[in-house]
Amino acid sequence: MDAINWGELSFGYIKTDYNVRCYYRDGKWGELIVCASETIGLHMAATSLHYGQEAFDGLKAFRGKDGKVRIFRMDENARRMQSSAQGICMVEFPEERFMEAVRKVVELNRHFVPPYGSGASLYIRPLLIGTGAQVGVRPAEEYLFLVFVTPVGPYFKEGFQPTKVCILRGYDRAAPHGTGMYKVGGNYAASLQAGILAHDKGYAAVLYLDPREKKYLDECGPANFFAIRENSYITPKSDSILPSITNKSLIQLAGDMGMKVERRPIEVEELSTFEEAAECGTAAVIAPIARIDDLDLNKSYTFSPAPGPTCVRLYERFRAIQHGDVPDPYGWVTVL
Ligand SMILES: *Cc1c(COP(=O)(O)O)cnc(C)c1O
Repeated sequence: MDAINWGELSFGYIKTDYNVRCYYRDGKWGELIVCASETIGLHMAATSLHYGQEAFDGLKAFRGKDGKVRIFRMDENARRMQSSAQGICMVEFPEERFMEAVRKVVELNRHFVPPYGSGASLYIRPLLIGTGAQVGVRPAEEYLFLVFVTPVGPYFKEGFQPTKVCILRGYDRAAPHGTGMYKVGGNYAASLQAGILAHDKGYAAVLYLDPREKKYLDECGPANFFAIRENSYITPKSDSILPSITNKSLIQLAGDMGMKVERRPIEVEELSTFEEAAECGTAAVIAPIARIDDLDLNKSYTFSPAPGPTCVRLYERFRAIQHGDVPDPYGWVTVL
């Protein structure tokens, strides 16, 4: 392995030594297979290629001051991936085996876990795809589960830099109405055009509204949304947002830090009453928002251009637990 400049890493793909795979054939999952190849052989009629039978997830491992490696809340990712599998009629990968595979792939690539203090971490990407051939629109009978890892840099290289996001009322993700939101490639494909449009206009992300009425806030592309007002942590409740594990953890921390937690529908206009606004997800943990432009209505909502004090407090506590700087009272961390 060439020396990696940990400080220069971005959120990109870097080859590591091994990935772990498991095949579903004849109605059952096989053994975990350790693999050094970066490619997969796939039937040209595989359902993942034609009918979007593809789900993924994402989590991270961190190196602590003590040199130990900590994986954050992998049981939650295991269960969320099962729910994604159900949503697009794929066979579920068992939770225990998911955790065994994640542990194994991190162990095998241990020297790719960035050093403590670099701000970098090891990103873990589980993937589940339909590999069986079908021409009719039907679920596959064969599946592949795999997990690879790649080291990624800190989301913010020089501390928090609040970003701008926009609302584009003409765009939806293909979230299945009323059946919940899943971490599946199809929804991401449906969001690419809006994402590119937003980036071209200088925005970091799109803030989606509920697809039915365009009245309530949903979430930001690949991250949930939350806001702070008068010691309350306020985050949307909706069946067309993905249940973020970061958000779930922040809700717990906010409550334990003495804040009131409100999980409810949030009307767009309420944005003007918030003291702080932010995106949250595995990549950044928290990305504070400085401004939200509702482009079709020509309306802007501005927040402090500096990161708000509550976002900073939540972030520091979250980060400390992930890295093992403070005890983990919740059992969120698996130490290898
Ligand atoms: C992954 C994802 C998130 C963030 O979830 P985390 O578990 O916090 O990483 C939010 N929204 C969508 C659509 C996602 O795919």
